[in-house]
Amino acid sequence: MDKKKIVVVGGGAAGFFCAIQIAELHPDWEISIFEKTNKLLSKVRVSGGGRCNVTHACPDVEVLLKKYPRGTRFLKKAFYQFATKNTIEWFAKNGVELHTEKDGRMFPTTNSSDTIIDCFLRKVHQYKINVLTQHEVVEVINNAATLSNANSAKQHSFTLQLLGRAPMQADAICLATGGMLKSDRLKWLTNFGHSIVDPVPSLFTFNTVDKKITTLMGVAIEKASIQWRGNKIIETGPLLITHWGISGPAAIKLSAWCAREMSETNYEGVIIINWTPNFNESTLKMEWINLRMDFGKREMGSKNPFDLPQRLWHFLLQEAGVALNTKWADLKSANQHLLIQLLTRYTLAIKGKTTFKEEFVTCGGVDLKDIDAQTMESKLVPGLHFAGEMMDVDGITGGFNFQHAWTSGWIAAQHIGQMA
Ligand SMILES: Cc1cc2nc3c(=O)[nH]c(=O)nc-3n(C[C@H](O)[C@H](O)[C@H](O)COP(=O)(O)OP(=O)(O)OC[C@H]3O[C@@H](n4cnc5c(N)ncnc54)[C@H](O)[C@@H]3O)c2cc1C
Repeated sequence: MDKKKIVVVGGGAAGFFCAIQIAELHPDWEISIFEKTNKLLSKVRVSGGGRCNVTHACPDVEVLLKKYPRGTRFLKKAFYQFATKNTIEWFAKNGVELHTEKDGRMFPTTNSSDTIIDCFLRKVHQYKINVLTQHEVVEVINNAATLSNANSAKQHSFTLQLLGRAPMQADAICLATGGMLKSDRLKWLTNFGHSIVDPVPSLFTFNTVDKKITTLMGVAIEKASIQWRGNKIIETGPLLITHWGISGPAAIKLSAWCAREMSETNYEGVIIINWTPNFNESTLKMEWINLRMDFGKREMGSKNPFDLPQRLWHFLLQEAGVALNTKWADLKSANQHLLIQLLTRYTLAIKGKTTFKEEFVTCGGVDLKDIDAQTMESKLVPGLHFAGEMMDVDGITGGFNFQHAWTSGWIAAQHIGQMA
């Protein structure tokens, strides 16, 4: 087999993983990573609050697929080739043990993203992969179009134009340039016929219009359900009231599911919160009969049967016009009706979003219809491959975005490695 010249564009998670996998298959090939900035793996470094949430303890592919608001059908083909189990094994084989937190997130046992970075840097050194910073690819030319028919049958050939540098040649390319918030960043890709699904942010928190609720700033609710009015999806989990609105895992996950819809309404809409997610309005009405019987003589302000933070419970009582010293047995039916509504269908007007610790990902990117999920190769330009967040795939928080970077990087590498 000829010695090939491979270029991976992007020195992030997907680019490094892909380059290392190609080198594992062909240690003698000339493999280069081109990174436009002077920093490598910068998102890996800051990820997971500096701990790097590498993946999620989710061995079942069908369950894993449910963590991706976009790209599920495409990912199904990909995850059956390389999923969380393979990630855990690969890191273990390369000296990185992972541990699992209660919520399923997996981190290196050192709890430091440096462990992941060191592992990757060791591997690129071992395989003599060229890592070139300040190499920004501004255009890729497919030479196959100009090759003679005899050559073009099996060979690919690309010229990469670099900002302020001489052009470079490659036999195959993997593009791993990460999320984008401007669709014109890869304009030359559209010349190849690839479409870009309009990129918008995902994973953010909500700003409320009515600032009454923000008086509860700092209140954390262990389990609440939230829904964007007009969308069927309901997220359940911890919720946090902040000085600008609402945050916490349930809110951030909801933002992923509704990212496009919310962007279309310019982040204006209504969120419905169920503070007692074990009940809906009608089941809580039934339960109320028992609550009145059990706590009849107790003051409502001091007896909160839902384990809600006391500040929130008092706030809801006040909103329902119930004095804190009202006895459960004396609650008037109009107030009871209102309180049950506030507990199960609290509506909050939203205007605007806030990015949570800048831990956002892009919803949108290179359209999956023109990428083969079995190989990550472009269906339009043979030899051109994709990996990571630049594709129209994104996950909720919990290690799912990195898992997609590892999976797509690995698959692209296997296909590039098969080149004759
Ligand atoms: C603060 C933060 C924390 C996060 N924490 C987690 C987490 O704990 N777990 C998780 O699963 N996900 C997390 N994510 C998401 C995750 O980091 C990304 O999904 C993942 O890094 C995507 O990897 P990538 O290689 O596709 O892109 P990136 O990591 O963004 O890498 C792309 C690289 O390509 C370079 N590049 C771009 N254009 C060019 C060009 N034209 N030429 C050359 N180079 C170019 C960029 O400079 C960049 O270095 C986090 C995101 C952020 C912002």
